[in-house]
Amino acid sequence: MKNCLFCQIAAKEVPGEIVYEDDDILAFKDINPMAPVHILIIPRKHISGITSLKEEDKEIVGKIYLTFSKIAREFSVYQCGFRVIANSGPDAGQAVDHLHFHLLGGRTLSWPPG
Ligand code: AMP
Ligand code: ZN
Repeated sequence: MKNCLFCQIAAKEVPGEIVYEDDDILAFKDINPMAPVHILIIPRKHISGITSLKEEDKEIVGKIYLTFSKIAREFSVYQCGFRVIANSGPDAGQAVDHLHFHLLGGRTLSWPPG
């Protein structure tokens, strides 16, 4: 989608610190990290967010979930632990309307989140 920041990062029109990519998904470092490890994982396809997911997106979401462990291993948080978050809508503070999952780690993460 033309005016979508994450589509632009996926298309390499906007720079991003990409740490993983394949035909369907992309992972890059968050520009404003909340933890020593803070990676965003997105589908290349523009999906506005969780509530826009369709039956046909099942496979891509599954693929994204299978990538979390791969990234966690790469950033050495597989053993010590990490958290995956997807914000949906204003109360959760979703700022970018392109489905994305935050992978956070490298420190003790408090629970419940604020
Ligand atoms: P959310 O609040 O869940 O929509 O998260 C959006 C995330 O995108 C925030 O953590 C931002 O720091 C991050 N972000 C915004 N612009 C960029 C960018 N150009 N490159 C990497 N991450 C970004
Ligand atoms: Zn997009």
